Amino acid sequence: MKIFKDKQNLQKEIFKNKGISFVPTMGGLHKGHISLIKKSKKSKFKTLVSIFVNPKQFSKKGDFKSYPRNIKKDIKQLKKLKISYLYIPTFKDIYGFKTIEHVYLDKFSKKLCGKFRKGHFEGVLNVVNRFIEIIKPKYIFLGKKDYQQLYLIKKHIEKRKIKCKVIECKTIRENNGIACSSRNLNLNKNQIKVASNIYHYLYSLKKKIKKNYSFFYINKIKKDLKNLGASKIDYLENYNVKSFKKIKRQSKKFNLFIAYYIKNIRLIDNI
Ligand code: AMP
Repeated sequence: MKIFKDKQNLQKEIFKNKGISFVPTMGGLHKGHISLIKKSKKSKFKTLVSIFVNPKQFSKKGDFKSYPRNIKKDIKQLKKLKISYLYIPTFKDIYGFKTIEHVYLDKFSKKLCGKFRKGHFEGVLNVVNRFIEIIKPKYIFLGKKDYQQLYLIKKHIEKRKIKCKVIECKTIRENNGIACSSRNLNLNKNQIKVASNIYHYLYSLKKKIKKNYSFFYINKIKKDLKNLGASKIDYLENYNVKSFKKIKRQSKKFNLFIAYYIKNIRLIDNI
């Protein structure tokens, strides 16, 4: 595994290949990231993983600072996985140049997390656009755990006619149902139990809603979630995951999208 900290040396090396399979991450690697990497390794191109905690996608400084980082452990894991390249850029390496493409921000960026995290998706699209210009990957591997993000990156790539295929990867969960996330490292034992109970509640709720839409009674659900230990709920909404249109009546093809807090830790999921 070759490690790069600047784009000049990285490009000199990777442009020798016919293409690159790219897995962008913010580090704090877990089973979710690893499944993306393993999928990428099965592709016909060499795998490049990036680790960059992008300050521009955090609206609160404290949230950026407390984001779990564990670079030594990450490097160890990536070496074991035998990826070809690891890119750990500095802020200047990513933001110190003018991009060719402008970011395309689909209107869906105003929904769900977009309503509650001002500037978040602008920050995500900005950094992804930059990574794509630096790496020029043929494939980019993204997790459905962050379905809204995945959708918006896909729209940007389509709209800007960038020759890069988005490979959608399923959400990986812990045995207790919680979606693997770097932020889980900030949860204590009791909080993990709360998150697990909330997952199981939502899982059975979805089954009920599929049979009878009147079970989607938001005030009751919010009350139940609070009783289970959620401190605050940003949103709980149903979307069709093909069209990304809101479900208004009985349907079989939807996911329940949620963002909620346990104390000051914000978790998102879609089930
Ligand atoms: P992050 O490091 O959180 O920015 O995530 C990097 C990539 O891993 C994104 O494409 C995420 O959607 C994906 N990812 C994060 N958690 C999971 C998970 N539990 N299952 C599958 N993919 C995930």
